[in-house]
Amino acid sequence: MNTNNDSHFRQNSYYLINARLPKNYVEQRYELYIENGLIRSIQTQISDRKKESIPVIDCQGDWVSLGGVDMQINGALGLPFPDLEENHLDRLLDISQFLWKQGVDGFLPTIVTTSAEKVARSLATISRYIQQYHSQKYEAAKILGVHLEGPFLNPKKRGAHPEKYLSSFTLDNFRGLIGKYCQQVRVVTCAPEISSEQRIIAELRSRYPEILISLGHSLATAAEAERSFRQGASLVTHAFNAMPSLHHRESGLLGAALVHSGVKAGFIADGEHISPMMLKLLLRMGEGSKRLFLVSDALAALGLDDGTYPWDDRTIIVKQGTARLADGTLAGTTLPLLSGVSNLVKWGVCDIGSAIALATESPREALGENGLAVGQPANLLRWHWEDSTANLTWERITNL
Ligand SMILES: [Zn+2]
Repeated sequence: MNTNNDSHFRQNSYYLINARLPKNYVEQRYELYIENGLIRSIQTQISDRKKESIPVIDCQGDWVSLGGVDMQINGALGLPFPDLEENHLDRLLDISQFLWKQGVDGFLPTIVTTSAEKVARSLATISRYIQQYHSQKYEAAKILGVHLEGPFLNPKKRGAHPEKYLSSFTLDNFRGLIGKYCQQVRVVTCAPEISSEQRIIAELRSRYPEILISLGHSLATAAEAERSFRQGASLVTHAFNAMPSLHHRESGLLGAALVHSGVKAGFIADGEHISPMMLKLLLRMGEGSKRLFLVSDALAALGLDDGTYPWDDRTIIVKQGTARLADGTLAGTTLPLLSGVSNLVKWGVCDIGSAIALATESPREALGENGLAVGQPANLLRWHWEDSTANLTWERITNL
């Protein structure tokens, strides 16, 4: 006989069976038990037996993963994050809901080099948004902190960052920039070689242990990069872009990062920032999802059509998801994060389980967050490979 408790139990529970899981899990079929929105168990599929009175979703060998985490995204729906102002809380919610629909669970709004006033205003707005909206039940991607990309960058590798706002890399300037918002800042991209303070990264890590240091927009030699890693830098910003390429006599920042087991590097998979062949090489050198993670580096035009858009006091031209300044300088993409996953598979760069892990498991690991495991919220994606069209698609599994 069913008691009220039984029916409540049934309503909020289901099994996912015959699921494949992203890399890190052994390649085989799994059974996941979901209860009240949480993953309660993950075990090897034993048989296809029907689970009495509890709904079963048969994944038929499709992959199941957590949603994506995007550690580098510059804006969306026409709003660049450096332009955030107090009255933009609703638009930030729109963006978070839009990203959720794009399969993203969490993101680091990225503030590129701009004036200190604009950085402070953006940080204040994001801080208010987190206070007001995170406790509410929205189907929206969560802000996991802010990524400050700049202003402590090498002027010779600034890419599309405006030169007038670049700043010398000193402890005082760092402290001045983040002001009272050190709780909100999660990652800072910087070029260590421009600092005259030899111990600056060690100092930052000890004063701000929650802030991860990512090397990028940099001409650091292998020795300079290695010293920064030893001092606690743990990430690299968009591998290959805005840094010297690998050279057999001077491996540079990227070479030093790829042989350093504690360092993880983000990369862009639009096919323009790095060629598919080089992506394949990068993934082999970085042991795939072990030490690499996918970012979108998407600009505010994410969610809008290809075209020409204003960008600070310049314009960008977006064509097939890649954004350039008028002089041809690469400025980012407008490709959603999970399109990068499909690209990697379509180009034969890596297997499906690895490609999914690069956007879902690896960025969580880079941030020190838990990946797919018992106890995690069951915000799950189901990925399907269609052989006839050679296409990888995904959909959110809605809690029953
Ligand atoms: Zn950049």
